[in-house]
Amino acid sequence: MDEIGFMVKKIEADGRLRVCNLGWNWAGSAYNGRVRFRNGISGVVGCMGSIEDAKNDVGKLYIDIGATSKEDAENYVKVGDVCGYYGPYVELVNNRIASKSLDNRIGCYQLLQALKENQGNGPNDIYYVFCVQEELGCRGSKPAAARIQPDIGIAVDITPAHDYPCDLEGSNALDEGIAIKFSDPSVVCDEDVVAAMIACCEERNIKYQREVIDKGGTDASSMNVSGFGVRAGGIVVVTRYPHSQSAVASKKDIEAGVELCKAISEYEFHL
Ligand SMILES: [Zn+2]
Repeated sequence: MDEIGFMVKKIEADGRLRVCNLGWNWAGSAYNGRVRFRNGISGVVGCMGSIEDAKNDVGKLYIDIGATSKEDAENYVKVGDVCGYYGPYVELVNNRIASKSLDNRIGCYQLLQALKENQGNGPNDIYYVFCVQEELGCRGSKPAAARIQPDIGIAVDITPAHDYPCDLEGSNALDEGIAIKFSDPSVVCDEDVVAAMIACCEERNIKYQREVIDKGGTDASSMNVSGFGVRAGGIVVVTRYPHSQSAVASKKDIEAGVELCKAISEYEFHL
């Protein structure tokens, strides 16, 4: 359920809002974008000096809500208020979509679809968990895993695409299927869980790709080390421009992810 955003840390005399990160924001992609606070107040992200000189330091950014002074700004926004990116969901050609917060509403969508479509006659007790604060260090999944004490924990999330010129240092691409996580810096997935996912995809003709990344992580990491240890895996949708107002993903990959969520839920594990 989580998404990246900003929290107001200071209001300047001229009415500009200084912010800190809630999750990892790229200063360059936030720059000149629109944000919205919970009370509906909109703002535009500016930068003190050139964005090139900011070198991805979000501390150099500010939010302009149109206020003319500190007192004016405080009529609308206070220190501690939070905002997220703002902009419509749009459909691109070739069954591709663009939106803010695909990370991780895609996961919510896939779980809800799997929940609706599962017949409930599989061998597993399944808990569908919609976590908060994944972007702040996988916090929500920690107490969830501690309460449920699962045998297997599967994160449903996104992963960066490596099929466009700004990031070619990996093998994942749009429309190549749902990605099965092997590893990222925070987890090495359980081999039996990975093998079960591959078996599900091969049995049911679900298009899949293998995911290995050297940056980032998901709730698979926190579930993995919860309690006495949990076998962890990840079902991740390949996404271009992640952590921006305009992440891009393929509906085909997302639907393949729904099929894999359903299939793995019904899979008979022999642990
Ligand atoms: Zn993320």
